Amino acid sequence: MSRYKILGFIGDGIGAEIVPEAVKVLDAAADTYGFDVEHLGPYECGAHYWVSHQMKRGWPEEVTKDIFYEADAIYKGPTGLPDLVGKLPGPYLPLNMRLDLDLYANVRPCRLRPGVESVLRGREPGSIDFIVLRENTEHMYAAIGGIMRRGGVSELAIDDYVQTRKGCERIIRRGFEMARSGDYKGRPGAPRDGKRRLTCACKWGLCKGDDLFKEIYDGMVAEYLDVERDSTWIDSWSYYALMRPDFYDVVVMPNQYGDIMSDMSGAIQGSLGLAGSINAGDSHCFAEATHGSAPDIAGRCVSNPTSMILSIGMMLNWLGEKKGDQRLRDAWRGIDRAVDRVLAAGKIRTPDLGGSSSTKQFGSAVAKAVKAA
Ligand code: NAD
Repeated sequence: MSRYKILGFIGDGIGAEIVPEAVKVLDAAADTYGFDVEHLGPYECGAHYWVSHQMKRGWPEEVTKDIFYEADAIYKGPTGLPDLVGKLPGPYLPLNMRLDLDLYANVRPCRLRPGVESVLRGREPGSIDFIVLRENTEHMYAAIGGIMRRGGVSELAIDDYVQTRKGCERIIRRGFEMARSGDYKGRPGAPRDGKRRLTCACKWGLCKGDDLFKEIYDGMVAEYLDVERDSTWIDSWSYYALMRPDFYDVVVMPNQYGDIMSDMSGAIQGSLGLAGSINAGDSHCFAEATHGSAPDIAGRCVSNPTSMILSIGMMLNWLGEKKGDQRLRDAWRGIDRAVDRVLAAGKIRTPDLGGSSSTKQFGSAVAKAVKAA
């Protein structure tokens, strides 16, 4: 039996509610699909940890940089609390996972699942099934820039918008490969016509970095003739995604656009509480829900753990592909189907989906459905 080291973090706000439920489902999947998990953690970390530990560190001492590299895969609850954004004297973890582990692909599926209503009218389950594929290391979030203060007053702020050939090439190639394989989707292709399609969404013609992004996309099209070519300006895409969501299959975009559009996709699929995501590179991966720490509902056990459960499922799929272990890939499908079964039955649903079940009740129902597979 293979044993995988999985490193976990709880994070802030609803992290303490959704992470244990996702771990429950991970353990159920390990039992059912026959692999062994060595848990490292889950450890506390985040803004709350900083404040409750005299503003010295955002994570426990035993969390060293090395364990991030030792782990086969990682998951993390949301970190950050609105009152403390930008006010704490340091990071929440000993490294910046996206940059230090070079996790260049943020995969954020948007699927309308059975028993769930989209904010868009008259949409059937399965009629929306696209992936926002967000570049994850460049653009406005490359952390290059600064602020000039004069006489104690913040006078000038600069964020450099960086796109590199390497950064564009690898995320766009990942997009073509994902459209080809149908990975992380309900089924391959766009729901409207079944066509495998990679949409390039950015603001070419205006932003130089996006000119490069589009040029590289256009140059790669000939290598993937089985994948339909489609490109749209990012502002137009925010309109088209609402008007004809069934047209989209995989949509690749630079970092900041993907950050914004994937929250909108949360609404399209019925709730941010359903929005799973992984940050994936070639050697490392960490699972994290699309949303934040949801302080408006934290502490009441009413949050929807599906986002975290699906993120961990996707993490298993990534690890299965890397290790050539089909059991992990089957476990991802098993978790995905179990979520659908519980949602379709409609008896147990959290308040964001119009129900009154607790986070725990939903997590337990999914774990039971995984075992019943
Ligand atoms: P948010 O994503 O936490 O919440 C937005 C809305 O979605 C809220 O109404 C919330 O109740 C709802 N929601 C989110 N997750 C839900 C779930 N699982 N079930 C049910 N409803 C859910 O956005 P915010 O309030 O703007 O941010 C809160 C904090 O999270 C901020 O401090 C921000 O910095 C941080 N944040 C962290 C991450 C991360 O760690 N990856 C990402 C985004 C925001």
